[in-house]
Amino acid sequence: MVKAEIISVGTELLLGQIVNTNAQFLALQMAELGIGLYFQTVVGDNEMRLMEAVHQALARADVLIITGGLGPTEDDITRETVAKAFAKDLVYVPEIEAELQRIFSGREMPANNLRQAYLPRGAVVLPNPHGTAPGLALKHHLGQLIFLLPGPPREMQPMFRNFVIPYLQEQGMLNGRVISRTLHFVGIGESKVAEVLSDLISNQSVPTIALYSKLGEVDVRLTAHTTGVAAADSLFSSVRAAILARLQPYFYGEDECTLARAVGEALGSRGHLLAVAESCTGGMIGHLITNESGSSAYFLGSLVCYANEVKTQLLGVQEATLEQFGAVSEECAREMLRGALRLKNATVGLAVTGIAGPLGGTAEKPVGTVWLAAGCRSVVKTKQLSLTGDREAIKERAARLALALLLNLLREGK
Ligand code: ATP
Ligand code: MG
Repeated sequence: MVKAEIISVGTELLLGQIVNTNAQFLALQMAELGIGLYFQTVVGDNEMRLMEAVHQALARADVLIITGGLGPTEDDITRETVAKAFAKDLVYVPEIEAELQRIFSGREMPANNLRQAYLPRGAVVLPNPHGTAPGLALKHHLGQLIFLLPGPPREMQPMFRNFVIPYLQEQGMLNGRVISRTLHFVGIGESKVAEVLSDLISNQSVPTIALYSKLGEVDVRLTAHTTGVAAADSLFSSVRAAILARLQPYFYGEDECTLARAVGEALGSRGHLLAVAESCTGGMIGHLITNESGSSAYFLGSLVCYANEVKTQLLGVQEATLEQFGAVSEECAREMLRGALRLKNATVGLAVTGIAGPLGGTAEKPVGTVWLAAGCRSVVKTKQLSLTGDREAIKERAARLALALLLNLLREGK
């Protein structure tokens, strides 16, 4: 396997003033390209330490990608330092100066920018349509490839996609790709998924299986190093089928599909119009649903009724219900649902009421107690949740699990 390393140059990175999103982007790209990434280094704008990092990396890697420090200012030293590290002199490239002059189009170009027209001998120029600093590709005498890319992500990312990948391909560094497919589940915890799939996970080889959990959802990611999507899909098919056979009730979609999109499709295909009543989620359900374009076709709206009086006023929740059972109760959730369904043309509804904390919990109803109700005029499903996490996590989980309850109801043909 081709081995790569990343060196991110910039004192701001070391000081924590900016987040190293370039390394993240490049790491994801390496995985997708089937290149092994074994080390990432962050180094400040310092010639000696950058030189040390470069030498170290080249002793281990076939491909070295360096980002940052290609600009015109004094602290941008990557180009010169790398030239020095390889004992290559800098040669003036008139085409780069012409390009720089074109970018400055008549305005006076600062003398410093002229430094960008000097490149280590033998370097290949990678054009930068989004900035002034061109990228560079260099070949070391043992055949290693070194890429120098600009620091700003909006310059670096297109340069990587448009010039580095084709160059790697041309140089025979890409054989095969790492392809992943992600199955999304909701309404089941990560440890339960791990238990249900334990034999598949412990015997995995191709594809590999990895679990990721996020706020009420669990992703199962299948990954294989192979030649293309079709080959990957055939490698995935039997494991995918085995996983779905065990977890079908919790499965809502694959890859780019979001829970709100799956719910939207289920509503749309059944010709439903949804009305929502939210208390503790504070509008998050409406937010998730309206994040999907086209949601106006199936979403009427969400009434955010936080105070008890508003539950009574807008949703018609009985005062007696609130007194007898409290706002966080199955009875209240049912009445909130009934209230939402009074909206004109509503055919299906969803209601949520709960305690997001950190205050407001009691022994009987601790923080994280949430009641959900989903249904239409004739059929209602309710569910109690006991959620953990901070306030925001409880709101997110409650919103997602409410959507999951609705999705189940719709799938049951209601
Ligand atoms: P410029 O011509 O803009 O000076 P440069 O190639 O010299 O580009 P740097 O000076 O190192 O790059 O960084 C410029 C800006 O790019 C930083 O202030 C930061 O906003 C962004 N940047 C640099 N490195 C990274 C990184 N590793 N991750 C995310 N952003 C980065
Ligand atoms: Mg700079």
